[in-house]
Amino acid sequence: MTDRSLPAGLHRDTLAVRTALEPSQYGENSEALFLTSSFVQPDAETSARRFAGTEEGFTYTRTSNPTVTSFERRLAALEGTEAAIGASSGMGAILMMCMGLLKAGDHVVSSRSLFGSTFNLLGREFAKFGVETTFVSQSDVAEWRAAVRPNTKLLFAETPTNPLTEVCDIRALADIAHGVGALLAVDNCFCSPALQRPTEFGADLVLHSGTKYLDGQGRVLAGAICTSAKLVNEVFGPVVRTAGMALSPFNAWVVLKGLETLSLRMKAHCDNALALARWLETQPAVKRVYYPGLASHPQHALVMQQQSGQGGAVVSFDVLGDTPEDARANAFHVIDSTRVLSITANLGDTKTTITHPATTSHGRLSEPQRQAAGISQGLIRIAAGLDHIDDIQADLLRGLGTLAI
Ligand SMILES: *Cc1c(COP(=O)(O)O)cnc(C)c1O
Repeated sequence: MTDRSLPAGLHRDTLAVRTALEPSQYGENSEALFLTSSFVQPDAETSARRFAGTEEGFTYTRTSNPTVTSFERRLAALEGTEAAIGASSGMGAILMMCMGLLKAGDHVVSSRSLFGSTFNLLGREFAKFGVETTFVSQSDVAEWRAAVRPNTKLLFAETPTNPLTEVCDIRALADIAHGVGALLAVDNCFCSPALQRPTEFGADLVLHSGTKYLDGQGRVLAGAICTSAKLVNEVFGPVVRTAGMALSPFNAWVVLKGLETLSLRMKAHCDNALALARWLETQPAVKRVYYPGLASHPQHALVMQQQSGQGGAVVSFDVLGDTPEDARANAFHVIDSTRVLSITANLGDTKTTITHPATTSHGRLSEPQRQAAGISQGLIRIAAGLDHIDDIQADLLRGLGTLAI
């Protein structure tokens, strides 16, 4: 028989469409969906060895499933990590990480500009179990350095952040973590491995919400941790098996197929976002645009080397307004004048989305907390989809062009 195993050294684009378990005996070219909760064992002895973990083989989908394994291998290949482990959602992956790495008395340092549920998971849920988290500035490395302690086990960051697209220096944070024997985890949801591979800059763990760009079409919830084979096999595998935040095979299959077009989609998302950001900068009703791909972004140089020269798909902007009330009314006017864009706080979809962070993702903060975070009442966030750029601009102009300013 000829050797049909994948040769070493393939390009990432090839790995994105090829990495998976071997096909079944039927030779399917598109990976199969194994929608089954359990697996029949050939005999009792084999079953015993598989349950004891001394022989490889599938037993039960909470432990492993061929479709989920194919997704994990493909995502790990794209991130450049030894292994990956799927989770029921992005938050399921972050929960798995915290359960696996932290215990009472441990300390975490995290960026303050976090996805809201992550902020609550660390600051509220794990605080209940005696894990303390210090929240620091996204971009001021000195604050991170000052916050670490002998019992610090984990540094956690998301880059760029939602909605102000602040970037952190992954290399600098990895050095601080490793200096105290801690690990650095990066939530790579906004960039995906098509733009940014955090382990190339020293991160130890990469977190994903597969719900966003990995699926890319707004269909399913999924999550994953990409890291060393040792952590996956010895720490996180046992957590999923015990706690059950397992990725469903159907969702794994959807995201597995999504990964095949990830780099093409991300390029189109980024092209649209950059064109939109540049256009927004020319609009008289717009006070400020936040987009990492713009030369006006405070960390533009870092972005260019950390994110493969791409700004990502998320663009935010402040509309003018003399008072917070005026700014909010103007932002609502722009949002409510759209007829094409989807009014939703989600992102990572082919459909361009528009949202008002101060009353949605950041609605539960007090007004002073929001102001400290830079989330004004006039702020609008766009996640550029694959709609034609001219249609996106025309849709925004319906409101931007009719503001009384
Ligand atoms: C959406 C999101 C998550 C959570 O992912 P789910 O799949 O919705 O659980 C985590 N981090 C970031 C940055 C996100 O945008």
